[in-house]
Amino acid sequence: MVVVGGGVIGLTTAVVLAERGRRVRVWTRDPVERTTSVVAGALWWPYRIAPVASARQWALRSLDVYEELALRPDETGVRMVEGVQGETEPDEVGEWAAGRLPGVRASSADEYAGSGVWARLPLIDMPVHLPWLRERLLRAGGTVEERPVAALPEVAAPVVVNCTGLGARDLVPDPSVWPVRGQLVVVENPGIDTWVVSSAPDGTTAYLFPQPGRLVLGGTADDNAWSLEPDPEVAEAIVRRCAALRPEIAGARVLEHRVGLRPARPTVRLEREVLPDGRVCVHNYGHGGAGVTVAWGCAEEAAALAASS
Ligand SMILES: Cc1cc2nc3c(=O)[nH]c(=O)nc-3n(C[C@H](O)[C@H](O)[C@H](O)COP(=O)(O)OP(=O)(O)OC[C@H]3O[C@@H](n4cnc5c(N)ncnc54)[C@H](O)[C@@H]3O)c2cc1C
Repeated sequence: MVVVGGGVIGLTTAVVLAERGRRVRVWTRDPVERTTSVVAGALWWPYRIAPVASARQWALRSLDVYEELALRPDETGVRMVEGVQGETEPDEVGEWAAGRLPGVRASSADEYAGSGVWARLPLIDMPVHLPWLRERLLRAGGTVEERPVAALPEVAAPVVVNCTGLGARDLVPDPSVWPVRGQLVVVENPGIDTWVVSSAPDGTTAYLFPQPGRLVLGGTADDNAWSLEPDPEVAEAIVRRCAALRPEIAGARVLEHRVGLRPARPTVRLEREVLPDGRVCVHNYGHGGAGVTVAWGCAEEAAALAASS
């Protein structure tokens, strides 16, 4: 079978399928370094994704896997890191993640100026995690080819799994998929070892994620904005908002600017379709701002849909 797409969704789905004994080939238009997935921060949290109930289930299943991968952080890029999710109450988290996030509590005034939740969550270093997923796939007998697909019926395989993210807009075609542009600033870490996500009353969000050798600052979420060029004014505003949370960020040396387009859709499309020629296509795209968070849960569901083919 062919999995089209080599971001976190495609690679994770391909790993699950290959480890279940399927012969899997991944076809990807872009190398890993040019995917949205490599840009992600990436904190485990079901942000900007629907349907909410399914996303929470996919997220909790992925949490099981990430907790295990965090036992080998240097190899997998996954770490369990503490931090504050601002403007959130412990009860809100308890409603859906009760018992799965031990140690969740209201943050103290020292930890966060507003009301927030202190939690220990997976924080994933995507430039390490994606190549690790690829290697795991190769070890399970899969292959990865850089190969763009113009139309799903052109893929000569009995089963096609469509994990093309924003690319699904043209490929399916599915006009309900749209980009939500996110810009980040990567700085030298001035000694911060916990993450913070904070929402302001004006709707802006500021977050800081410590990754090995750097601190990732965010962020923006602009609907239907397609530019991959970093905007210097936006970058300044990101640093300013993050420095309001942690003043030591103000003087930190900027290492890099990053932009990614989140593949948004009113709801994730995770379903089986019979193509006009009778072959089966399993769709797994439209994960918005939480593709990393839900990757393993969605991959297992997609693999189950493919198994019934
Ligand atoms: C700034 C930013 C911060 C984020 N932070 C987080 C976070 O903290 N936590 C979290 O869970 N998520 C986060 N996200 C969201 C997350 O990055 C996405 O949900 C996720 O990367 C989507 O993965 P994907 O594999 O579907 O898409 P992509 O990574 O875009 O991969 C799509 C793949 O499909 C291929 N493709 C597309 N069209 C074709 C075609 N026609 N033929 C062949 N191949 C094709 C592409 O080449 C690519 O390999 C963030 C995103 C951004 C932009």
